[in-house]
Amino acid sequence: MRPFDYVRADSPDAAARAVAANPRAKFLAGGTNLLDLMKEDVEQPTALVDLTRLRLADIRAVRGGVSIGALATNATTANHPLIRQQYPLLTQAIVAGASGQLRNMATNGGNLLQRTRCQYFYDTAMPCNKREPGSGCGAREGINRNHAILGWSESCVATYPGDMANALYALEAVVRVRGADGRERTIPIDEFHRLPGDTPQRDTTLEHGELIVAIELPPSRFAGNSHYLKVRDRASYAFALVAVAAALELDGGTIRQARVVLGSVAHKPWRSREAEAALAGQPLTDASFRRAAEVALRPARPLEHNAYKVELAKRAIVRALARAGRMA
Ligand SMILES: Cc1cc2nc3c(=O)[nH]c(=O)nc-3n(C[C@H](O)[C@H](O)[C@H](O)COP(=O)(O)OP(=O)(O)OC[C@H]3O[C@@H](n4cnc5c(N)ncnc54)[C@H](O)[C@@H]3O)c2cc1C
Ligand code: SF4
Repeated sequence: MRPFDYVRADSPDAAARAVAANPRAKFLAGGTNLLDLMKEDVEQPTALVDLTRLRLADIRAVRGGVSIGALATNATTANHPLIRQQYPLLTQAIVAGASGQLRNMATNGGNLLQRTRCQYFYDTAMPCNKREPGSGCGAREGINRNHAILGWSESCVATYPGDMANALYALEAVVRVRGADGRERTIPIDEFHRLPGDTPQRDTTLEHGELIVAIELPPSRFAGNSHYLKVRDRASYAFALVAVAAALELDGGTIRQARVVLGSVAHKPWRSREAEAALAGQPLTDASFRRAAEVALRPARPLEHNAYKVELAKRAIVRALARAGRMA
C-alpha cells in the first residue's frame, strides 16, 4: 500500500484547484475503477480529492434536452424518468454494464474515464506503453483476443471498455468540464476520448485538473427507435467483446437518419459515419443494414487473435439496427 493524501472537496473549484496543483493528484468519485487500479499498483496517485460531497448529481431538463450531473450514479441515471422515456438507449447501455451494486456506486464522470481492461495494463510485470510510456506493448504480440480492430497504433491496441459512452456517442452528448481557473468549456463527446497514436497514456482530451461537471444531451430524436446490443463471453457481469449503439429516425419505411456506434473495438467508442451515410434515405430492410455493416467494418485491421470480432461486429450491427427498427 502506498501512502497518499486524502482531501474532501467542498466546491467544484476547490476540487479542480487541488488536483491541478499536484501532477500526481486524482479525483475520486465512486472509486470502483480507481481504487482497484491503486490496489494493483497500476495507478499511484499521491493525493485523492474526494468529489462525493459536491452537488453535481442533478438530472434535469435543459433547453429541450437533459443535463446529467457528473456525480449522479449510473443506477440513478438509468432509472431516471427523463432518461428512461426520452433516451432509452442510454438506460439500456448503462444497465448492460457491471452489476447492480457497482452501478449504485459508479458515477457518470468516473464511468466516462474508466480505463482499459487490457490484461497487460493491469499486470505490472509486463511492458505497457499506457502504464509506462516507452516500455512497449505486451498485447501487440501477446494474447490480443479482446483488443482493438479499428484505430489502433503500434504503441497500443487496447479498447475502451465502457458501455454508457457508446450510447452517449450515438446521442451526440456534450461533456461540460471546469478548469482550475473556474472557467467551463464543453467537449463534444466524439472529441472526448482519443485514439492511441504515439501517446496511449492519454485516454482523453481532458487536461490535468479539469473536472467533469455534467453531461448534456440534445433534444431526444431517437426515443422510439434505438437499441443497445452487447455481445460478451457470458450473459452478465462481463465487458463487451463487441457492443453496438444503434438509433434510427424513420419516415414510414425509410430511414431518414441513423446512428451507429461500435464499442470495445477501438481505443474509443467508434462512431461509423460511413455506415450512417449508407443508411440515410434507404428502406428499412435487412439488406440496408447488411450494406451498412460492411461499410462500417471496411477499415478494420484485426490482430492475431481477434479476427472473429470483424464478423461479430457486422452481425451485431445488423441485429441492433433491426431491433432499433422494431423488425426483430
Ligand atoms: C467488476 C467490474 C465490472 C465492470 N463492468 C463494466 C461493464 O460491463 N461496462 C461498463 O461500462 N463498466 C463496467 N465497469 C466499470 C465501472 O462502470 C466503472 O468502474 C465506473 O463507472 C467508474 O465510476 P466511479 O465513479 O467509480 O469512478 P472512479 O473509480 O472514482 O474514477 C475513475 C476515474 O475517473 C476520474 N474521475 C471521476 N469522476 C471525475 C470527474 N467528475 N471529473 C474528472 N475526473 C473524474 C478519477 O480520477 C479516475 O481517474 C465495471 C467495473 C468493475 C469493477
Ligand atoms: S494494448 Fe495498450 S494497454 Fe494493452 S499492453 Fe499494449 S500499450 Fe498497454
